[in-house]
This record gives sequence, structure tokens and C-alpha cells, in this order.
Amino acid sequence: MSMTAVGQSRKSSQGEVPPPKAKSSAKEQTVPEKSKRTSAQRNNHGVVAGQVRPRVFLNPGHGGHDSDDRPCPFFNEGMQERVEYYESDSNLKGAMAMKDILRERGYEVFMSRVNNTTADDLNLFEIHQLALNSGADVFFSIHSNSSGSSTRRVNFPFAIYRGYDGAGTADGSEQLANIVSSNLSDCEATSWSRGGITHGDWTFYKNRSGLGVFRWNKLPGILIENCFHDYQIERERLLNKDYCWLLGVINCRSLDKFFNKPAQNFGVVAGIVRFDYPRKGKKMVAFGKDSHQPQNGVPVELCDLEGNPIQTYQIDNFNNGFYCFTRVRPGRYLVAIDGVEDYEIEVKADKTTYYNVTIVTRQDNVDYDDEITVVHSAGTEADETAIANGEVGQ
Ligand SMILES: [Zn+2]
Repeated sequence: MSMTAVGQSRKSSQGEVPPPKAKSSAKEQTVPEKSKRTSAQRNNHGVVAGQVRPRVFLNPGHGGHDSDDRPCPFFNEGMQERVEYYESDSNLKGAMAMKDILRERGYEVFMSRVNNTTADDLNLFEIHQLALNSGADVFFSIHSNSSGSSTRRVNFPFAIYRGYDGAGTADGSEQLANIVSSNLSDCEATSWSRGGITHGDWTFYKNRSGLGVFRWNKLPGILIENCFHDYQIERERLLNKDYCWLLGVINCRSLDKFFNKPAQNFGVVAGIVRFDYPRKGKKMVAFGKDSHQPQNGVPVELCDLEGNPIQTYQIDNFNNGFYCFTRVRPGRYLVAIDGVEDYEIEVKADKTTYYNVTIVTRQDNVDYDDEITVVHSAGTEADETAIANGEVGQ
């Protein structure tokens, strides 16, 4: 989603979008020419139940690195330079991670784009056609959000489905939205300003045009705004591909739950390493422990209980302090970070073990706490109206 005004680009046009001429790029997507859904029993959310091979159509949102792709460059305190940021890059990283994980787990996965160029930035009608031809059971569109305000900041997941609140037009969409929003809200390698929300697009946009990506699309499905990239501290995390992967693996677990797939057999370890002093540089809105300076450019080790390193993760320099061990066999481990006592964790299959760390630099620090403080403000009307001004295109 973005605050780009409706109708500014051909893809966001609120009016009729003529069916485009077939583009050769469309054939290069990962959708087979002919793919027919087999008839099967439907479960209580209308989606083919107990399938050995559920079909998921992933739409990593808009892209192309064009002006309508909403560049969001900013000065990064860790890099000490202005860095590029496009929502489309982090959306694509997350979607590619989902594709790999889901395929590994026996899903059939189709994608509306696998690159980020003008050529593969398809319009909504083309995306609809690809989704329809794929025979997918579920349409899953991946975005991050912006508040529509130059000053007010929020950070929470928002899942949108076609129809009115509580009455999605495609069976299963609302259930999927609830699962996805709830699972993302449980992510602790970030700081949320509140818990996740879900809405039907007709209710949310107060009209029956709703979300452009659902205009023709009748498949059960959602558009998920994983988080808010105009909350700068979240944008710093989104620069890290493994953070995008983490959001992707959480979304895969949601699909597993939706399709009643067995649990993933690996666990994940993730967290943020920060200091006990305030963030350096420009003052900005920060939720919970995001107000603390993150660590940059140091290794985090995952060790066995004897202290032998198994995996090393190098924290990047984008000022996010994020680390992640992506595929960890269930068991007990030590996490080793310079300046911090080794910490024993338990890794469970299909779960993320979060370990957020505050490095104490001041002896007199009484505020030491290795738990992140998640600020869940009460849901306010203002939060929701702030994000009603984008995304009608997609
Ligand atoms: Zn978007």
C-alpha cells in the first residue's frame, strides 16, 4: 500500500482498466499455460480441503523501480549515507522466501513477478488473468503500508479481503486474513504500535470498488500489509533480506494453518541487539525498545551447549540490530554475542524463538531488560483512517 493518489498511474486507475494486450513477459511468469483445478471436496472455509498440493498465487505487489513504485530513500545512521528503499524490493524478497518454503513443503506456487523491473510490473488485469489461469486455491498479495501522514507514525499488520467486514465475498478470505494478521502480530523481532487488524475492502474504503487487486479476482485471498515502511525504524529492518524472510516464514505458517498442513520441521531464532542508550541521530518516533540504539556489523553465534559455534549471523550495517538463524533443528542452544553473557534458548519445530538483547554499557543502568516492550495502544479510529488513502490501485 502506499499513499500514492488514486488514479495517478495506469495501474492505480480507479476507472476501467482495459484488458491489456498480451505481453511476452506474462508468459515468463511462473504460471503454467494450462492449469486446471481438479474438482475436490471443499472444507468449511470453502478452500479445497486436505489437499496434498495446495495452490497459492503470490503477488508481491507493485514494482518496477519507476516513479509510481514509490521510492522512499532516507539517511541511514548505520551506513552514514542516504540509502534507497522501495517497498517493492522488500515485498519481493518476502514473496521469494515464501515461494521457496512453500514449494519445499509441497505447495504449488505461482508468482505474478519474480523480478523488479518495468517489464514484469504487470497491471491488475494481467495479474488477475494469471491468477485465474493458475487455478490457485488462494490469492496472496504482499505489501507494506504507509500511514498517509508525513508526521504520524504507526506500525501494525493489516490484512484486507474482498467484501464487507465479516462478509467476505470469497469463502475463506476472512479466516485467512485473521490468521495472517494474528500471526504477524506475534512477531517480536520488531516493535508494533498496536496489534494487527483485518477488514473487508468494501467496508474499509466505504465503496464497492474497494481494492484494485480484487476488482476481477474472485479467488479466496487477501492483501497483507505486513508492517509500515514509513515508520523509519521498520524500514531499516526491511532493508535486511532475512527480516523479509522472517515475515515470509510467518506468512507460510499461516497458510499451513489455513490448509491444515503439518507443521514445519525446522525452527527459527531471531531477535534484535541494541544498546541501553537512545538511538543516535535524528529524533524520530520509536515504539518500545526501538528507542534504543541498535548494534551494527557484529556477529551473533548460535552454539551448541558446549559453546561450539554452529551458525554465525553477521548483523548488517543498516542500523536495525537484526539477526536471524533461519533453519534450526529443534533443540537447546546458546546464543553468543560479544559483551553479553551466553544465553540458552530452546528451539521448537515450526516456531520462532525470539531473543532480543540490550547490551548494558552503563553500570548504573536500572532499566536493563532483555525483553522487548511491545506497545499495544488501543485501536483508534485515527490509526485506521490514516491508511485509507492508498491501495485502491494496489
Ligand atoms: Zn504497496
